[in-house]
Amino acid sequence: MDASMGLMQFIDAAPTAFHAAAMAADTLANAGYQKLEEQQPWTIAPGGRYFLTRNRSSVIAFRLPKRGFAPFQIVASHGDSPCFKLKPNADRAAQGLAQLNVEKYGGMLMSTWLDRPLSVAGRLIVKGERGFETKLVNVNRDLAIIPNLPIHFNRDANDGVAFNAQVDMMPVFGEEGADIMAIVAGAAGVDKDSVVGCDLFLYNRDRGAIVGSDGEFISAPRLDDLACAWTSLTAFLEARPSDHIDVYCLFDNEEVGSGGKQGAGSTLLIEALRRIAQALDARPQALEAAIAASFLVSADNAHAAHPNHPEKYDEQNRVRMNGGVVVKSNAAQKYASDGLSIAVFEGICKKAGVPTQRFANRSDIPGGSTLGNIALAHASMNAVDIGLGQLAMHSARETMGAKDVDYMIRALKAFYESEISITSDGTVEF
Ligand code: ZN
Repeated sequence: MDASMGLMQFIDAAPTAFHAAAMAADTLANAGYQKLEEQQPWTIAPGGRYFLTRNRSSVIAFRLPKRGFAPFQIVASHGDSPCFKLKPNADRAAQGLAQLNVEKYGGMLMSTWLDRPLSVAGRLIVKGERGFETKLVNVNRDLAIIPNLPIHFNRDANDGVAFNAQVDMMPVFGEEGADIMAIVAGAAGVDKDSVVGCDLFLYNRDRGAIVGSDGEFISAPRLDDLACAWTSLTAFLEARPSDHIDVYCLFDNEEVGSGGKQGAGSTLLIEALRRIAQALDARPQALEAAIAASFLVSADNAHAAHPNHPEKYDEQNRVRMNGGVVVKSNAAQKYASDGLSIAVFEGICKKAGVPTQRFANRSDIPGGSTLGNIALAHASMNAVDIGLGQLAMHSARETMGAKDVDYMIRALKAFYESEISITSDGTVEF
């Protein structure tokens, strides 16, 4: 299948981080990866292929070389996207209409959520025969709308509107008396009274589309960061086994700071690496020595230069859609990249024939942050921040280059297949 189509199918099937993680876990299981439980001791063997999930919203997969324990080559992305989360007591009513009581999850462009069909998805905790059980749910039909105020009541609307999340962003989903938990429970095939807990989110119902005079662009919800989540999973599965330990990470919680038990700032990654070391090589310091020789690629989408606002971007480091994989860096180290890690990653891309381009913010605009540097707090290793250039980051619908999907798969496949060796004096082979 064409890579752009594969990505859009993944996005359609992943309205929330729970669904993205389930898609990744199913894909890994179908490819022969064995599921490990964090709650049990692990029995793993050289040459084996494994994955685990935490909170059912983050995933780590790894593939062991035949020779046994070795340094790690890791690609990490995130499966969550900015959206609205249902609050407790989510039903409210006004003017005879049923509404949802929601709050912001992450920093979205709020205006883009207005006047478009939305639905609800997430997970339910339900009373089952063996106690409480977790069920993923997707209402999966046009259910809700957040209506704009007409221009007649806000004549200055086209000069910029300040939205208040508590006032302006509450969606309508029926006439007064409609019951959101009954709808969600029905979609999950369970009795409403059996629902004892939930994490439910609004999502944009739009399907992805190929756009442009020659089909140059992909326009879809959640490209940040499902584009990197899907391309890195594809590259991980397509890559030839190597002499190091290949690791795939999909983290939840990036859009709210990577905290919590399953974010990139949690102990999820370091605990997985430690357990791999303990199971394969019980020598003291084996883990620390391996981490010091390891390499992390943090893959999260990047800003392509907006044609109407080129002044927002650094003149020397503007990104173009379909211009190849973006390598991000800044002096403040919000990105994990440095001169050495960039040289290694760009060298790998060059060998693979994949174009790369550089991104840096204007010196007077601080820019965003991402998960790479946060993950390094627990597992410190050489690392680079990369992504694919896109427009309208954190809009309910974003746009990226169609060719870049293939570039990213080829770049990350080449990364997994490279044998990177870095010494403390900065000598590198790959
Ligand atoms: Zn992102």
